[in-house]
This record gives sequence, structure tokens and C-alpha cells, in this order.
Amino acid sequence: MGNASVLEERKDFILHKQDGCSGNGMRCDANSVSGAVSQRACVYCGARVVLNPITDAFHIVHGPIGCASYTWDIRGSLSSGEDLYRNSFSTDLREPDIIFGGEKRLTAAIEEIAVKYHPKLIFVYATCIVGVIGDDVDAVCKMMSEKYHMRVIPVKSPGFSGNKSVGYKMACNAIMELIKGQTPEKRKGVNILGDFNLAGEMWIIKDYLKKIGIPVISRFTGDSNYENLLEAPKATLNVVQCAGSSTYLANRMEEEMGIPYIKVSFFGIEDTTSSLIRIAEALQDEQARQKAIEFTSAEAEKLQPLIEKYKRNLKGKRAAIYVGGGFKAISLIRQFDSLGMETVVVGTQTGKKDDYDVIESLVGKDTVILDDANPAELEKFMKERKADILVGGVKERPLAYKLGIAFCDHNHERKHPLSGFVGMINFVKEINGSINNPVWKYMEGSL
Ligand code: SF4
Repeated sequence: MGNASVLEERKDFILHKQDGCSGNGMRCDANSVSGAVSQRACVYCGARVVLNPITDAFHIVHGPIGCASYTWDIRGSLSSGEDLYRNSFSTDLREPDIIFGGEKRLTAAIEEIAVKYHPKLIFVYATCIVGVIGDDVDAVCKMMSEKYHMRVIPVKSPGFSGNKSVGYKMACNAIMELIKGQTPEKRKGVNILGDFNLAGEMWIIKDYLKKIGIPVISRFTGDSNYENLLEAPKATLNVVQCAGSSTYLANRMEEEMGIPYIKVSFFGIEDTTSSLIRIAEALQDEQARQKAIEFTSAEAEKLQPLIEKYKRNLKGKRAAIYVGGGFKAISLIRQFDSLGMETVVVGTQTGKKDDYDVIESLVGKDTVILDDANPAELEKFMKERKADILVGGVKERPLAYKLGIAFCDHNHERKHPLSGFVGMINFVKEINGSINNPVWKYMEGSL
């Protein structure tokens, strides 16, 4: 295999045993290589991913109007209450503000919202240009909090100040700013971290936990609100679903509030089953453990005929995965395995070394593993490894279609849940519908 499309500086981020792209383990959790046209989002976008689903929060994007185009519409977190979070507010910085400073515009924006809406909670995102001109966002937020008796929390997220993982961290710091400083009475129950209620997935997980007798106290941040987040310190366990975005928060809550955490995944039968059992075990709740075993084996049994039916269509097909975090990629490899499919390319935007170690142990020796990929690399490896389908997000969809490869959206704008047992049904049907769609035969030879 040649390396025509791989930049020299990128070779350390790619692991392909036969190709020798990386000698001593794989490099990850680092800033993108300049000029490599990373598929990864910026720091501000990473922060917004985590905070946007808080349903009664106001999100003020302090920067030019372009940054504010990242809104609820491209996320799809659902709410059982308020829908304020579906609005996006921007200070719309212009050239004079860049020259003379944007603090006045930020103050005016916060005051307008305070007077019109009497909010409990506002997040103010500092974007690239604010990082350059050096507005004192902290001071403005503090002044406004005191004047209007509300929480105005700065999120230090200039897009250039690192990578998407830094944005996650900034969002977690903002959450800690909100919930710390209380000495609550503990009560039995868990917080769910790193689930954003895409297509109602938080509700599915909550329902499963209810079935096995485990209450959910707070939700970070799918379908959460100001009052609910303040309850979080009462929990006895944190359950981390999207490890990439929320492990930092879980670590801080463990250190500062004494709440231990476990990492889970509710994608696929195998991971949903083991996650529910492990949550019960972590709470040392034998009754819940028994219920989890009974519930998951009954659900898995119900799904078996459907899996067998679709397996006949999918056996031997080859999958490429490019998703946000390592845990999702690991669950997807297992899901494809259970369908008789092979994962031939797998990459993430924010995976950590531990995640890549597990990924490497799950895939074959020919599989290409890559961190922080760009379109040229994805194209090259998908073609070379003859992928039948790509699982990714909105930025990867056109890439797959242009290559005549089937696609499954596993990101934030999808409208159907992929979590839990019900999610497995949707997943199998979508993979089958996309791979075996007759449209692909009309594209053969045209590319
Ligand atoms: S990179 Fe900078 S300018 Fe672009 S969206 Fe992110 S914060 Fe805004």
C-alpha cells in the first residue's frame, strides 16, 4: 500500500500494521496537523456540544455571526420541558468591535436577555476573535451575574486554542462552576454524563435504569435544566456514556464531590447488557443486578430472530467507522462483529490511548486505525480497504456518497435513536437498507 495521500506529519496518527504508518504505538489526543484539513470541530464547537442540550439555558456566542451558525438545528437533542436552548444568541462582532473591543456589545446582549427573559442561566462562549482581542469576558459575566442575580458563566473556547477535546474540558469547567460549592445529602441514584438525548436516547437509558430499580438524579446534559443540574452532587455514582466529552467532568466530580464513576456504552446488545449489570454492581445493589440480568437477556432474546434475518444480508460486508469518541467506535466494532461484518477502517476525532488499545485488540491485522482523520485519508483508506459502508457524521456523509459508498449517520443530527435494544433494531435496519440499496449498482463504473 502506498502513502500518496498521507502527509508525512500525519503518519504517527495512523496505525496500519502492514503499512508501517506508525512504529511505536499511535499518536492521539494532540492538536491537528496544520494544513491537514481535519474533520474535527473547533474548541468552541466542542464546548457547545456539551452545553447546548441544557434546555432552559441561554447560549450567547460572543463573536462574529458565523460562529453562531452552530445551533440546535444541527444537533437534535430533545427536551421534555423548555425549548429555549433551540435559540442561538450572538453578539455579532463587527470590525469596529474588533478594533475597540467587544465588551460593550457583550454587556448589552446579556442585559437585553436579562430584561426580556429573566433567565436563570446564561453561558457566554468566547470565540476565536475574542481570544485575539482579549475581551475580559470573566469580568463582564461576573458584573452581570451580580447586577441581575442570575448565573452568567463564561466558557473559554476560542476555536484556535486547542482541539475539540479542549472545548469539552471548557464546558466541563463551566458545569463545575455551576454545581460546585454545595454540601448535599446523598441519596441512592446515578447521574448520567455524556448523553445528549439525541432522538430521545436519554429517555431510553433512564427507562432501562428505572426497570432495574435505579433512579437517575441528574442528566449531563441531555434533557437537563438548571434545577436538575444542581441536584447532581447528591448522586452516589456517575455513569459516563460519552467518555471523550465527560471523563474530565467525572474526574473533577470524583475529586471534589467524592462521586465515583464508571464508563458505559449503550450502543449494541453486548455493551447495553454489560453496562446495566456493571451499574448495578458499582452500586452494590444485588437486586438491581438480578433485574438487569433478567431484563437484558429477555431483550436480547427478543432481538435474536431479527439479527439472524439481517445477518444473512450483511455477512462478509466491510465497514468503515469515523466517529467522535473512542467508546462509540468500540461499540460499533462489536455491533458489526455481531452482524458478521468486518471493520476495515476505524477512526475517531477525540479518542484516547486507552481507547485505541482496545480498538486494536478488537480488529484484524489489516484494519486501518486513524486519529483525527482528514477527507483525503478517509477516501484513500476506504477505497483501498473496499469499505461497503461508512458510519460517521454530517461532515462524512457527502464523502461516502461521492465515493458511491453506503452511509449511516451516527452523529447528532439523526432523528432515530441508536441506543439500547430499540437502537439496535434501528441500526441493523439502517445498515441493511443503506448497504443493500439498489442505487449503488447504478453508480458502479461512474466514479
Ligand atoms: S474556529 Fe473560531 S471562528 Fe470558527 S467557529 Fe470556531 S470559534 Fe468561531
